[in-house]
Amino acid sequence: MLTIFQFFATKTDASVLRMLNGSPADRLLKPITDYVRAKGGRIHLRTGCREILYSGTPGGPGVEVTGLRMTKAGVEEVVRADAYVAALDVPGAKRLLPTPWRAFPEFDKIHSLVGVPVITVQLRYPGWVTELKDGAAGVRDMSRGAHGLDNLLYSADADFSCFADLALVSPKEYYKEGEGSLLQCVLTPADSYMPLPNEEIAARVHKQVVSLFPSAAGMEPTWHSVVKIAQSLYREAPGMDVYRPDQATPVARMFLAGSYTKQDYIDSMEGATLSGRLCAGKVLDAAPGLAGGVKREAAARVAA
Ligand SMILES: Cc1cc2nc3c(=O)[nH]c(=O)nc-3n(C[C@H](O)[C@H](O)[C@H](O)COP(=O)(O)OP(=O)(O)OC[C@H]3O[C@@H](n4cnc5c(N)ncnc54)[C@H](O)[C@@H]3O)c2cc1C
Repeated sequence: MLTIFQFFATKTDASVLRMLNGSPADRLLKPITDYVRAKGGRIHLRTGCREILYSGTPGGPGVEVTGLRMTKAGVEEVVRADAYVAALDVPGAKRLLPTPWRAFPEFDKIHSLVGVPVITVQLRYPGWVTELKDGAAGVRDMSRGAHGLDNLLYSADADFSCFADLALVSPKEYYKEGEGSLLQCVLTPADSYMPLPNEEIAARVHKQVVSLFPSAAGMEPTWHSVVKIAQSLYREAPGMDVYRPDQATPVARMFLAGSYTKQDYIDSMEGATLSGRLCAGKVLDAAPGLAGGVKREAAARVAA
């Protein structure tokens, strides 16, 4: 949390702390996929990469990616390209990047990054939990639409590191006439909560919500949802930054992107975006040596 606040305190041109006005699929991903398709790119969904094929001896010079073994609905295909970008999360990167590549320190370090469990809890209330004016009367006032703290919030006094009232920050999707706050609270790292039943987790989070906003005392959630992710973002403990890999790698044609890779931001949506931009720069830098890779690979296979 300190890292985040130091960042916002020192970078005056940083992104504004805000939520998307709509689902990420519509507001974040669609413009990107539209752009990629308009440029002639193709996006293959529900297609998993099973193996990275390569030539050369890991740890030495001249190691080069020669293709990717992909599967879609059980059908396998080897895809060959001039450049390959693995834009994965930490658990995905550990699974996919070939184990022998750990002979390179750059890939070995990734294994020091440990994914932590994250739990997202949503609680719907019959009032406005974060309304700080007029005490309980303000909280219960349903006559004037959504009101309260309209931003992403952080607290050191609760087990959830950050939270927001989605009915306020993202009303297009989450404000419902006649209903109140939809608090979304993210528990991370959530190790101690993982074994608990969902009811218990929701009850504990509700208790902490009321301790942060005492004027909401007496109000009970009308609905809740609990989503557990066993391994997600890496544990951002002090000293972990040195283990984040650069977007360019010692393996020819292989590039990394993803918010866990080295960039100024923490593991976040902004970090993922920035890593993509840095990665694109590294691909462009290497471009003169990348062209013709597919043809060269095909010729080598024919010769063999
Ligand atoms: C509960 C929760 C709340 C969060 N809240 C916020 C927030 O409010 N603000 C914020 O900025 N960030 C937030 N984050 C963090 C943010 O979601 C991540 O930092 C961001 O999504 C990382 O993007 P990415 O593209 O690097 O990786 P991801 O979004 O993790 O994408 C990696 C993708 O690679 C896929 N993959 C893995 N292996 C393979 C394979 N072999 N073949 C094909 N695909 C594969 C995975 O399925 C995944 O879809 C939150 C994260 C969580 C879990």
